[in-house]
Order: sequence, then C-alpha cells, then structure tokens
Amino acid sequence: MILVLNSGSSSLKFQLFALHSLQSLASGMIEQIGEESSHARLQFIDSEGKSQKITKNLPIPEHKAAITAMSALLKQSKLLVHLDELAGIGHRVVHGGESFQQPVLIDKKVMAGIKSLIPLAPLHNSANLAGIEVAMDQARNTAQVAVFDTAFHQTIPAHSYIYALPFELYKREKVRRYGFHGTSHSYVGNEAARFLGRPFASLKIITLHLGNGASAAAIKHGSCQDTSMGMTPLEGLVMGTRSGDLDPAILFYLARETGMSLDDLDELLNKKSGLKGICGDNDMRTITERIKDGDKQAELALDIFCYRLKKYIGSYLAVLGGADCIVFTGGIGEHSAPVRQKSCEGLEDLGISLDPEKNESHSGEARAIHMQQSKIQILVIPTDEELEIAAQTRNLISSAPTP
Ligand code: ADP
Repeated sequence: MILVLNSGSSSLKFQLFALHSLQSLASGMIEQIGEESSHARLQFIDSEGKSQKITKNLPIPEHKAAITAMSALLKQSKLLVHLDELAGIGHRVVHGGESFQQPVLIDKKVMAGIKSLIPLAPLHNSANLAGIEVAMDQARNTAQVAVFDTAFHQTIPAHSYIYALPFELYKREKVRRYGFHGTSHSYVGNEAARFLGRPFASLKIITLHLGNGASAAAIKHGSCQDTSMGMTPLEGLVMGTRSGDLDPAILFYLARETGMSLDDLDELLNKKSGLKGICGDNDMRTITERIKDGDKQAELALDIFCYRLKKYIGSYLAVLGGADCIVFTGGIGEHSAPVRQKSCEGLEDLGISLDPEKNESHSGEARAIHMQQSKIQILVIPTDEELEIAAQTRNLISSAPTP
C-alpha cells in the first residue's frame, strides 16, 4: 500500500492506496491541529464493501500527535498495523524551488533542501517538513517520496519566469516565477490526452485549475511553458480571497496614504481580496445563488473572475500558438457552468465554441463540453492530486535500486 500525506499548518490530509491498482482504500483528515479540540476522521470501505466512517474529537497539539492519531485510525479500521508495512509514503511539498524538478526519495539531504526553501513558502513548507520528519521517524523502513507542487513548472523558459526586476534579485534572492498546482496541471493534462486518445507529447493544452486557489497553465508537447501563479500563489487569476494580478504601486499608495503595515497588506491581498473582497463571499456556490436572487455585487465578482480567466486563455493561445484543448478542473472548474460559459463567451473566432447543453450537464467523470465544430476541444476533468502523488511515489520506488 501507498500512503499519501498532505501536511498543512493546522491540518493533515491522508489517503491510502493499493500498491498495484492504485485503488483508494481509505482517506481521512485531521483538522484544527494545535487547537484545544482537534477533529480526526477516516472514511474507508469495509470488507463487505460498505463505506465506514470513524470520527474522533481529541486534542492534537502538533504533527507528531496527528500522525499518531492517523495511525491509530488506520489500525482501528484493520487496514494497517504499523506504518512500516507500507510500500511507500508520498508527501505533498508545496515549494521545490529550483532544486527539485521531479519527485525525489527523501533522505537527510532532501529534508535539508526542503528546509532551505521555507523562506519562499513559510507556512506551507514548514508544515510539509513537519509531516515528513514525523513520518520518517515513525516509518524508518518505508521508502518516502517528496512530490513538489512547483516541479511540473520547472520547464518554463527564462523569458517567462524572470521578472523585469534587477537581475541580481534572481541570482541572489531567487526572486522568479515558480508556479503552483503543478501536480494537478500535470494530472489533468495527462488525463486530457488519455480522453482524446492522443499522446500527451503531441498536444497543446491550456489547463485551468479553479478551486479556492486558482491557476492556469500553458502546456506544449507535455512540457509546461507558462503558468499564472508566480513566486508565490498570489499572482495571476482572481481567487476566493486572493487578488491575483494587480498594479504593485497600489501597495505603496496604501502604505503611504493609510499607514497600512506590511502585515496588513499581506492579509489584504491574501485573505480579504478576490471574490470575497469584491462581494463579501468567496464560495462560488453562494455567489451563484446570490446572482439568481438578483444580487448585482455578486454578479460583478463573477464577471471580474471570468474576465481575468478569459484574458489568460487568450494569452496562453498566443503563448502556445493555438491549442488542441482547454481543460477545466478544481471545484469551480468542475462544477460551475456559469464560469465556464462566461470565460469562453465570444471566443468563437479563436476556435472556442462551448455547447450550452453539454456545459450544463453534471457528472463526476471526464467529459467534453464543446460544439462539434469547435476547433479547440473543451474538457471538464476532475483533478486528483492524491492519486497523482501516489502514482509518482509508486513509479519512483519501483525504479529505485534496492539496497
Ligand atoms: P481547494 O482549492 O481548497 O481544493 P476546491 O477545488 O474544492 O478547493 O474548490 C472550492 C471552490 O469550488 C469553492 O469556491 C466552491 O464554491 C466551488 N464549488 C464547489 N462545488 C461547486 C458547485 N457545485 N458549483 C459552483 N461552485 C462550486
């Protein structure tokens, strides 16, 4: 079996997969780590094929206790007695900087590398590392793999990743665009190729990952050419609570005119902007409901979200010199017909024609939603980052030389 761990600053998501079929055996989450009452839950299919849930409320002060609680849940469900029974553990790591261009087997040197990248992603990489340290300690005989969110974007050329800033800031401080959600862009890109029955290496694909965080990627012949997130996950599309692209001089203006501190500005752009900043809600379902009730502010938020998305689709058509397909994924990409409709509207002359009926249909499966005459195929493909991490972990441990 392969266990995938996604350690956040106050949560631990985990999923257990069968080694060969990569069938999901169980998944769970520990929430509110570090708070007085934490919440641990596991969902799995029992031997009679029924879905079973175990839920516990208990204090979980840090990641060590979270991984112990997860092990206890897996043991209670009779899936696993000890973590050392696993064939491998795959860890999601948000920032791999320029050092990690693909998944790697974790050893002390890799852990030091992840630690050295903490300044680039303080909240994420430190939590990811905390999870790795505990898992390495509790499963000493299990191969463990780090899969980086940034790795898929490491093929982006310099003219796209270098900011127009003094070049020494790149050399000295590593200030450059890295991009995120790479595991998802890579997964849905490959799935799109499979859906179309063509090699990934022969296609030009625009992937749109639209969840609470949102990013677009331009993929040519299997390699990423550009992506909308930058040095941090703040750049690019409008998101739930993040502004995405804006004139950086707004920050100087606000600091001078209102006395806002660096921390205030950080919170403003990351937590109080995006859809939430415009209309007070960051959940696309709520926004859609409000629009149905005639709410103009919610409609403005949707319009701004879709307009930015459309601009990125247009710019990535230019980057790739046309495209074979556009893929919508993430909670919004998979479920919001209005977002797909508005962001593709008026692009018929560029070869993009959405079929309104197919766009309205609901399904958890990969599907095509374009008109027959559409030059560019438009697909909805559910993402599965945990499955991709499990697959990459399995590939790496099966190709690694045995000691
Ligand atoms: P995360 O980035 O946290 O993984 P998700 O990919 O789950 O987030 O996406 C969350 C977003 O998806 C939210 O804005 C939510 O409103 C939106 N979403 C989920 N289901 C629907 C739906 N049926 N219609 C519209 N939006 C939806």
